[in-house]
Amino acid sequence: MKTDRITLDHIRVPLVEPFKISNGVIAEKDAILVGVYSGGAAGYGESSPMSGSFYSDDTPESTWDCLTKELIPLLLREKASSIESVNALLNTVPGNMFAKAGLETAFWDLEAQKQSIPLWKYLGGESHSVESGLAVGIYPTIRELLLAIERYLVDGYKRVKIKIQPGWDLKPLTEVRGEFGAIPLMVDANCAYTRQDLVHLKSLDDFELVMVEQPLPKKDLEGHAELQALIQTPVCLDESAEDLPTVRRAIALKSCRIVNIKIQRVGGLHHARQMHDLCAESGIPVWGGTMPELGIGGAQTLHLATLKNFMYPTDVESSKRWFVEDIVEPLIEVHNGMITLLSSPGNGHRVNQSAVKKYLVRHETIS
Ligand SMILES: [Mg+2]
Repeated sequence: MKTDRITLDHIRVPLVEPFKISNGVIAEKDAILVGVYSGGAAGYGESSPMSGSFYSDDTPESTWDCLTKELIPLLLREKASSIESVNALLNTVPGNMFAKAGLETAFWDLEAQKQSIPLWKYLGGESHSVESGLAVGIYPTIRELLLAIERYLVDGYKRVKIKIQPGWDLKPLTEVRGEFGAIPLMVDANCAYTRQDLVHLKSLDDFELVMVEQPLPKKDLEGHAELQALIQTPVCLDESAEDLPTVRRAIALKSCRIVNIKIQRVGGLHHARQMHDLCAESGIPVWGGTMPELGIGGAQTLHLATLKNFMYPTDVESSKRWFVEDIVEPLIEVHNGMITLLSSPGNGHRVNQSAVKKYLVRHETIS
């Protein structure tokens, strides 16, 4: 497939409520939509770094610069024409995973459309229906946390995940268990604890959690192994699971029993599927996390989550959960805790151009 032109739209959509985790708070969602045009068809991807250093060193600005000055000129110059050649070229540039994810996933959408099959089928998925879990941030009070869970649980989400940090863990968990009983419950610390906290973290076993996600710093695989040996609750790696060699090392060290795969963090669907396959071979179940992305990126995670070793509910929620308005049509919807993917070719969820116009920060076309 010959690429005619590539478009970029940096958009910024207000969140319905601020999202606070252990290392920061955001009130708006920045994303760069990447459109790859070829022979009358258009594939779309989403580069979805958070602003500031909320989750990673990549920001919307650094991602925009990398796309416009480096990655897009490289692909156009080398006439990349397949997902394999796109990945081979992107692999020659270090880092910039969010930029790569937006560009690479656009080619997957385009290729699946050309094959006239939905993306999930093109990826090798087995079902078009995915379990969705509710994720809530850190609130000023436990009362507000309980109200937020109650407000969103009416959509039937298959599990609840709460964010924890030192000083906000055992107490909110006790209250959530007290209020909602035996719901499937998990926690995410976003690296907020250290090896000094291992004995304290052992108390998490009292709550029969589905998993504890990324309790320790991302480089500390040995610390995670020490913790996993100490507690019954499965440890899940998220921030640590940057690439295949790291995940391979984590599995060998017994640092985790579950891995959270994020398309944005690993630079696209090819690397995400490779990570899924490695975990499957090693008997480590996975699930699909989010930044959270807008609807294009969210839907891609849903497509990926149809692969057979995705064993836990995804963090992808309904469009209305986080965003005052999503930029896809149709919107992503959760019914009885399930999200059903469309049967139309490619991503299925298409870009709503009038919504893009409304939230546009800047646009560029490169050919
Ligand atoms: Mg996480």
